[in-house]
Formats: sequence, structure tokens, C-alpha cells
Amino acid sequence: MEKKQGLFDKLRTGLTKTRDNLFQRVFHGDTVVDDDFFEELEESMILADMGMETTEKLLDALKERLKQERIVDQGQAREVLIDLIAQSVTPEKDFLPEEGPAVILVVGVNGVGKTTTIGKLANLYAQQGKKVVLAAADTFRAAAAEQLGIWAERANVPMIKHGEGADPSAVVFDAAASFKAKKGDLLIVDTAGRLHNKQNLMNELSKMKKVIGRELPDLPLETLLVLDATTGQNGVNQAAAFSEAADLTGVVLTKLDGSAKGGVVVAIADQLSLPVRFVGVGEGADDLIAFDPEGFARALLS
Ligand code: GDP
Repeated sequence: MEKKQGLFDKLRTGLTKTRDNLFQRVFHGDTVVDDDFFEELEESMILADMGMETTEKLLDALKERLKQERIVDQGQAREVLIDLIAQSVTPEKDFLPEEGPAVILVVGVNGVGKTTTIGKLANLYAQQGKKVVLAAADTFRAAAAEQLGIWAERANVPMIKHGEGADPSAVVFDAAASFKAKKGDLLIVDTAGRLHNKQNLMNELSKMKKVIGRELPDLPLETLLVLDATTGQNGVNQAAAFSEAADLTGVVLTKLDGSAKGGVVVAIADQLSLPVRFVGVGEGADDLIAFDPEGFARALLS
């Protein structure tokens, strides 16, 4: 419980900019909801990067519910909106099962926080007593494996790497062999984020997936896209592009601590039907939070 509260505080702190710059001035006290209120709310939602479409959809639903439930008070309206936002970001499919081995393939363009996120995930699961193995399959940049290696050392988990320019699938093959030999719980694969060469990326990712499917048959596979929250709606575009190259199953949104665009979480969940699995709220190993829809909606608005 204590830990959970601590994480919620971190999330609240992470969302401070979005909340204070935007929503705090909409909800002021227990005054009634009127046209001004809806106008200010709409503006804030769009500035928080929820996107036009999602904002309209949520506002329509909010107006409908307020009418049905005869709510005129802002405080109660906020509770209804929290509920609507939480509903809209609740994933249809759960994240990886708690028990049993699994694979996470991590994709995303350079600079979004991919390496850091993998390091945080390795740390998180190692702390839970899981045997984690990392595969440094971003062989495009020599620095990528080096940087990941630092995180691996810190989390005290093994990492499999090859030289620069090596075939990423060969790294995955070796990592899978090591994973099997060690009876690992979680294999996390880093990949090169070369979105500008989509065909190449697509081929590379599908080859890696083929190797995973062959070497580790029937293991649950989560393909996580890492997005930088500070890029706001641009992240939605990246997600759309990556969706074409890989069968994405979830998103990690990083740098929520430095962003006033926390609403992009809602836009991604709604427009791309992609569940947000984790959010990054800092550069430290512990600054990764499993995404909780209700907690997020509450931290965003109140
Ligand atoms: P990559 O190129 O996608 O692998 O990105 P990196 O993992 O190297 O991260 C790029 C920069 O973003 C680094 O300076 C990280 O410390 C920073 N970063 C990553 N995640 C977060 C986060 O959640 N919050 C903040 N404030 N910084 C982050």
C-alpha cells in the first residue's frame, strides 16, 4: 500500500504541468457547469494533447452523462470525466501474465527513452525475483549496446550482444538460447528504431519475431512501442507508423514528468486502440510506473 501510494504521488508529480497549466483553471471550486466551463475544458483537453477527435468524443459523453444524472456541479462533473477518461484508457487485453516466461520486444525511434525504459523494466522485474535476460538487438548504433550494458549491469541481469552491424536476428537467436539455458522468466529485446526506412524495419522486426516464435514457441509476446510524451500528438503519428511495421500490443509513454501534454495517453489509447502499459516519470531506475487508468485519470484532473 505504501509503495502504491508512493507511485501514485510520483504520477501526480509527473502530471503536475498538465494538471496545473491546464485543468486546474477549469475546475475552480463548486461553481456550476455552464458554456464557459465546457469551452475552457475543451481548450485544456486539446492543449493537453488529447486530440480533437478524442476530446469531442469525451465531451459529448460527458454532456450526456451530466444531463442524465442531472449534474450541474463542477466537482461532480470532474468525477464523471475521470470515470469517462479511465474507461477510455482501460486496455481490452491484459499485460503479460504474472507467471510463466514471456518476451517483450521494444521498438521506438531514437531519443524517446527506449534504452532507459528497458533498463527500468529489467530493474523492476529483477527486483520481483524474475530472471531477466536482455538482447541488445539494436546493432545499428554501437553506443546502443554499450548504453544498455550499463543498465544490465546496474540491474544485475545478463545481456547478449554482437558487434555493430550484426544481424539483429542472430542476437535474438543467441539471447533465446541463453534464455532457455538459464530457464529465464523474461526476455527483453531492444531493437533499432529506424522509422525512416519502414520496409527495412518491417523486415527486421518480422525476422526477429520469426526467430522468437521458432526458438521460444508459444511464449506470450508483448511488442511495446516507446513514445516520448513531450512530443504530444507527434507520438500518435509515430504510433500509427510503427503500427504498420510491427504488430504493436502496447505503449510506454516516457518523460511524463517533463510534459504538459499528459493527455496524449488518452489520445493514443482512444485513436489507436493501443493500451498504455507503463509511464516513465524520471531518469532513475525506479521511475517507471505500471499504468493504472483510474489513477491516471484522477492524477490528471484533480
Ligand atoms: P533512446 O535513444 O530511445 O534509447 O533514449 P534513451 O533511453 O537514451 O533516453 C534519452 C534521454 O531521455 C536520456 O537522457 C534519458 O535519461 C531521458 N529519459 C528517458 N526516460 C525518461 C523519463 O521518463 N523522464 C525523463 N525526465 N527523462 C527520461
